[in-house]
Amino acid sequence: MSARRDRILAEIGVRPRWRLRNREVPEPAPAAAPGPAAHPAGDRPELELDDRAARIARMEWPALKSAVATCEACGLCRTRTNTVFGVGDERAEWVIVGEAPGAEEDARGEPFVGQAGRLLDSMLAAVGLRRGENVYIANVLKCRPPGNRNPEPFEVAQCSPHLVRQIELIGPKVILAMGRAAAQLLLNTDASIASLRGRLFRYQGVTTIVTYHPAYLLRNLPDKSKAWEDLCFARATMKDLKAAAAPQS
Ligand code: URA
Repeated sequence: MSARRDRILAEIGVRPRWRLRNREVPEPAPAAAPGPAAHPAGDRPELELDDRAARIARMEWPALKSAVATCEACGLCRTRTNTVFGVGDERAEWVIVGEAPGAEEDARGEPFVGQAGRLLDSMLAAVGLRRGENVYIANVLKCRPPGNRNPEPFEVAQCSPHLVRQIELIGPKVILAMGRAAAQLLLNTDASIASLRGRLFRYQGVTTIVTYHPAYLLRNLPDKSKAWEDLCFARATMKDLKAAAAPQS
């Protein structure tokens, strides 16, 4: 263990003494997209939603970026300062999915740049990853919910096609779903993070691992060690996936 790794581990609040849990059998593929959401008006709003999602699903990066930048599909457009599209390597092997921008992200237009983001950066560094290098970071919602309240189902239904398309365009090897909103969307489940940790799921064929959200970890320091365990699990999973994909000699 290098001194630098020890320093980073101390920073994220864990000591380097965690071992991987046993890996469980991969889960069957969950439903991909969220179901039709409650809509404030209209007879068949799901048709409108499906049509919009289908259009987003055909977009390439420039169209997708401009669709997010100009999006007015839910009320969050009225309170946002900036949309927060996502950041990083568009061909990354890792995709990190959070919930929604907070105040600093809204001000700067970049995900995870506040206190939770600094913890995320430290956590990534602890497993040898760096923002922007083979890592892409995005949120379920691209606009900040006022007061950082939880995303509403209608907002998730309207916004999530953007994330779905981002993941499809990137084609990562591993997705790390951080927190409830990301896990709910990608795995189509209401289960707790505690029950989803340490298992391998598939989202649209991509290996998906669930862990706690950094903002939760800032409030629940003892669970940092569990997040560290999850990151080690994710790193070992990536290694296995690459070994399995390597040509046999
Ligand atoms: N929390 C998130 O889920 N995403 C951000 O970008 C910032 C905080």
